[in-house]
Amino acid sequence: MFWNAGAVKKTNRTTAIMYFLSIALPVPLRRSFDYLAPADMTDAAVAALQPGIRIQVPFAGRTLTGVLLELKTDSTVPSQQLKTIGAVLDLQPVLDPELLALGQWAANYYQHPIGEALANTLPILLRKGGSLIKQTETHWRLSTDGKGLPEGALKRARKQAQLLDLLQQQASIGPAALLAHSISRATVKAMLDKQLIETFEATPTTTADTSPREAPLQLNPEQQTAVDRVSQHQGYGCFLLEGITGSGKTEVYLQLIERCRQRGQQALVLIPEIGLTPQTLTRFQRRFNCPIALLNSSLTDNERQLAWQAARCGEAGIIIGTRSAIFTPMPQPGLIIIDEEHDSSFKQQDGFRYSARDIGIKRAFEQQCPIVLGSATPSLETLHNALQGRYQHLQLTQRATGASMPALELMDTRHAPMEEGFSHALLTEIDTEINRGNQVLVFINRRGFSPLLMCHDCGYTAQCPHCDTSMTVHFKQRLLRCHHCESQRALPNNCPDCNSQQLDFRGIGTERSERSLKNRFPHTPVIRIDRDTTSGKFAMQALLEDVNRGQPCILVGTQMLAKGHDFPDVTLVAVLDADGGLFSADFRGPEKMGQLLVQVAGRAGRHSKPGRVIIQTLHPDSPLMLSLANNSYHQFARERLAERQQQGLPPFGHLAMLRAEANNLEQPEQFLRDLRQAVPAIAGANLYGPLPAPMTRRAGRFRAQLLLQSLHRSALHQCLQQLALQGEQHPMGRRIRWSIDVDPAEVF
Ligand code: ADP
Ligand code: ZN
Ligand code: ZN
Repeated sequence: MFWNAGAVKKTNRTTAIMYFLSIALPVPLRRSFDYLAPADMTDAAVAALQPGIRIQVPFAGRTLTGVLLELKTDSTVPSQQLKTIGAVLDLQPVLDPELLALGQWAANYYQHPIGEALANTLPILLRKGGSLIKQTETHWRLSTDGKGLPEGALKRARKQAQLLDLLQQQASIGPAALLAHSISRATVKAMLDKQLIETFEATPTTTADTSPREAPLQLNPEQQTAVDRVSQHQGYGCFLLEGITGSGKTEVYLQLIERCRQRGQQALVLIPEIGLTPQTLTRFQRRFNCPIALLNSSLTDNERQLAWQAARCGEAGIIIGTRSAIFTPMPQPGLIIIDEEHDSSFKQQDGFRYSARDIGIKRAFEQQCPIVLGSATPSLETLHNALQGRYQHLQLTQRATGASMPALELMDTRHAPMEEGFSHALLTEIDTEINRGNQVLVFINRRGFSPLLMCHDCGYTAQCPHCDTSMTVHFKQRLLRCHHCESQRALPNNCPDCNSQQLDFRGIGTERSERSLKNRFPHTPVIRIDRDTTSGKFAMQALLEDVNRGQPCILVGTQMLAKGHDFPDVTLVAVLDADGGLFSADFRGPEKMGQLLVQVAGRAGRHSKPGRVIIQTLHPDSPLMLSLANNSYHQFARERLAERQQQGLPPFGHLAMLRAEANNLEQPEQFLRDLRQAVPAIAGANLYGPLPAPMTRRAGRFRAQLLLQSLHRSALHQCLQQLALQGEQHPMGRRIRWSIDVDPAEVF
């Protein structure tokens, strides 16, 4: 804290300048608030306050931490009505001018309250009024006892032995390296308890490991062109790097970062929420010897802030993080990379609903640096921009290892004999692959045992008491669980309505497939990978290690399996039920389905062994399925673009959603209806609704929505501004929950 009320001696004001401090506060109002400087603060001290510092102020009986936006010499509010600020928390801005401007732009674009938007750009401890922390983190090294251990000690505790081994090779280890080697804090604690290791405080730079780095790979011509085009570019430029799975996009990123580092600049790499595998992180660490700041959910608040600070002072040359890392300060920005740019985790789905990809593009523009959007299955928005020439289109059409991309084979299951969701023909194919010593991946995009419990006698179905949806059966745990609100209850033995014992499990989830595959292939390990089997921090890693031993096995999993992983021995990918996306009510359904299938298919035959992909479908003649099977994703995506154009949907038209919810349906509907009526018609902006949301009741709340569509951003924006203003002034506005979603990821 650098200034506190009453701490400074009173001085007489010598000049007549009256300053007003315009402050953004974390409250749900789309405006800033004016405050007065304390009478005992000198004019010079006030004039020295810089935008971007944090200031505590009284607000509605509470003390809030806000961000100074500007010093003004007039205010629309009479000064007698203005309150005086409390403590000034920073001498130097925590939000530098560039990020402050970016945050303000984003708040306006997404029509989100400025104070909440700015708070989102800061690490959580700073948001709460904490101070910058001294730049050290806890590291671990061998104690005297640890150094005296004989070789091969701790053999019975595999992870502890691994940590011992590492510490015998290098002097110490920090949190990022622990993560890269998938060593849990429990392992560290066990060794600390045995006094085999000890902690010490280290700064990230002093401990940057100086072992020799791996040399870059020799690029193939397509990769070389991509690297040359981006690195020869001056100033802002947006590049779409469209490369099939396994085409070596990561190697392109690494070499671009290397050039960026040679110029003394920082690189920011954004990855999807579950996209950063330890293999990827290790690849970065092996290549570069500058400190790498990691900003993802595996860190504590303290560690996150340290990483943020390391980026902010320029010490971290490379920043790797998930969505919110797009707001990481960089004094020397040189390159932004968004890996898997189509991934939905880049769009925040609650609160401040921003797209980190789109903000990244704006940021690159303002900072005059290149941005690379990489994907095997680019979003239609990005593809459209590339086809229009707004982005430069770089393509990698070959797999870097020389392997070929497997074709998608549609398997018609309409009249086929089935066994627990598998056609007999598919089971035979799986059997053949296993007997050849290969691995098989079975993809089902639904976890749990079965999505519906039904009584054969009276037709009862198990519904969630809080949501308009059925509960999923989790058989082993004997539970019914709602995947929308997480409520759960015991799995009944008899029908709760008629007491019959004829209860049916309808539909197939990963747990059920795991069981039926184990019965069918009793001598082959079946490894299930979904949210339920990977909830521990390193559980996923442990499962993947089993797979990577290369023995024949069957992997069963959800979309967690589709992203980023490299399974060298998988030769057959089977998709159990791909038809869901064909009938999705959401306009992005087909796009998402195509992306998912192509990403899953990309897991097959990545290395020396050729791969196959079999898709079971009841709709082998559907144009969507045929297009995916016969063409590349590229062609499939162009066809979807043509449909969107006809319908005036993104990227041709623009959308925004107003959502409202309360504990009855009347209020949110009334609220949205009032807003719609209060807003004057704006040419080119079309409002649809309000309508109840398709799943009207969720977690006990009733939800309604109003859709706004326009072919012109300006009309959409003008209308939204009006709606937001009306919403804030509406008497119900404070009692119900409502939100604005610009460029929504889904409209249903
Ligand atoms: P992507 O990110 O496009 O899925 P990766 O960068 O992970 O692809 O590359 C896939 C595989 O190809 C990796 O094992 C990588 O080491 C290898 N690879 C990438 N570029 C080259 C290259 N130029 N020469 C040889 N192997 C390469
Ligand atoms: Zn019944
Ligand atoms: Zn529920």
